[in-house]
Amino acid sequence: MLSVKWVHAIYIKSSNWEDYEPGANSSWAWRKICQVKHLLKDYIFRAGMDPYNSKAGYQLLKPDMDKVMWYPWVLNKWIIPKQAFLCWLIAHQRLTTQDRLYRMHIIQSNLCFLCGSHEESHEHLFFSCAFSQRCRDLIANWCLIELPCSEVIKWWVQRRDHNACRKKITAVILASIMYNIWNVRNVSRVEGFVSRPECILQRVKNEVKMRVGQLQLHSRNPSALAWISYIRQY
Ligand SMILES: [Zn+2]
Repeated sequence: MLSVKWVHAIYIKSSNWEDYEPGANSSWAWRKICQVKHLLKDYIFRAGMDPYNSKAGYQLLKPDMDKVMWYPWVLNKWIIPKQAFLCWLIAHQRLTTQDRLYRMHIIQSNLCFLCGSHEESHEHLFFSCAFSQRCRDLIANWCLIELPCSEVIKWWVQRRDHNACRKKITAVILASIMYNIWNVRNVSRVEGFVSRPECILQRVKNEVKMRVGQLQLHSRNPSALAWISYIRQY
């Protein structure tokens, strides 16, 4: 490990660290450190942080806080685990959608299997595809909740719902929608037919009702209890 004192005595000497350039005989590691210093300097300059201060620099460089949002979703035991995992993959854009395969020159066409008229990306398939929109509308109409058209997990984490049970069931509904859209898309890719959005509604309803039936619900909120009983019945 290079000590700061040693670095100043051997390399920087009387030079200004900000403008310091490594000599031709410097080691590979030292040249890499100086390279990173230049990148950081450029980044800090573009962020308008002049003069530099370490606290603001840390805030600028620390990992995106949105990532933390995943914990309450993935750790929500109410969501069927395989569905929570799929949602995690969707939010990190890790599914092998057509746009990715096309960019890798693995396939010739990047069209969506559900509508056949747009490029299939994560955003398109789960949110802006006419098929997915229709499924979402039907399901929103059933569960009486206005569902988000993108950034599902962020929407859910930030959503103010005064009842914890209802909030958790909302996550179960969202995960089930995405899971079923991905399944329909895979069936369409292999077998060439697309189920009707009404079928997706039915599958989501069945899954959510089954899940709600398995869970111990502890709520004293009359409006939440009425909503849960409605979800179980209809
Ligand atoms: Zn589509």
